[in-house]
Amino acid sequence: MRNYYIAGNWKMHKTRGEAAALAQALVAQLKNGKHKYLVAPSFTALETVGPLLKGSNILLGAQNMAAAEQGAHTGEVSVLQLKDLGVQAVILGHSERRHTYQEDDGLINKKVKLALQHGLEVILCVGELLSEREAGNAEGVCETQTVQGLAGVAVADLPRVTIAYEPVWAIGTGKTATPEDADAIHASIRQVVARLYGTDAAQQILIQYGGSVKPDNAAQLMAKEHIDGALVGGAALSADTFVPIALFK
Ligand code: PEP
Repeated sequence: MRNYYIAGNWKMHKTRGEAAALAQALVAQLKNGKHKYLVAPSFTALETVGPLLKGSNILLGAQNMAAAEQGAHTGEVSVLQLKDLGVQAVILGHSERRHTYQEDDGLINKKVKLALQHGLEVILCVGELLSEREAGNAEGVCETQTVQGLAGVAVADLPRVTIAYEPVWAIGTGKTATPEDADAIHASIRQVVARLYGTDAAQQILIQYGGSVKPDNAAQLMAKEHIDGALVGGAALSADTFVPIALFK
């Protein structure tokens, strides 16, 4: 039986004060929550939010990190700096990184391996564009991104990897994949993991769905066999919308 894992990606929103207020509300309202939780504030709010999450059931996540450990990389943030702030997990390969900032599978794979090598958990995002779905290639795109994102990752490290299936056309658009369509892609990703790591590892890996998850569609999505949680963007920006998703039964 897999656990559910609900993560909130705050993207480039919230000042430190706003982030602190949201973190405090979530700590209070999720304290009896039974699932696994994470919030990923902006880099600028990590130092503020980290101490507020201490002792809670909510992990501190980052939204990205550099592929290099340290050095001359102006504007980047390293794994060492994230760990110094108490970050426990990092979201990698988000579609906004792939499509707005041209991150490719090779770069994302370097980041995945570096994060794991330093003991962080990883949420590896995969997902197809609308044109790729319309061309009948949604599964193929997710397969490639999964295989290349996990290249060189040892089976022993896989328990620290979560995959988030986020169809790009559903992110921030209000369009959600139907639970059936999403579940079919999740099942195909699980098969890819089985091919790479064996059936036990594939049964255990958590696969979140992301793309306009809201309080009124979360339960239907997560009722599906292969959907093990959610990566939430817009609805993660307020406790009023994130808490009902996080506490879904
Ligand atoms: C996301 O950014 O990962 C996301 C799924 O956003 P939204 O929930 O707003 O679609």
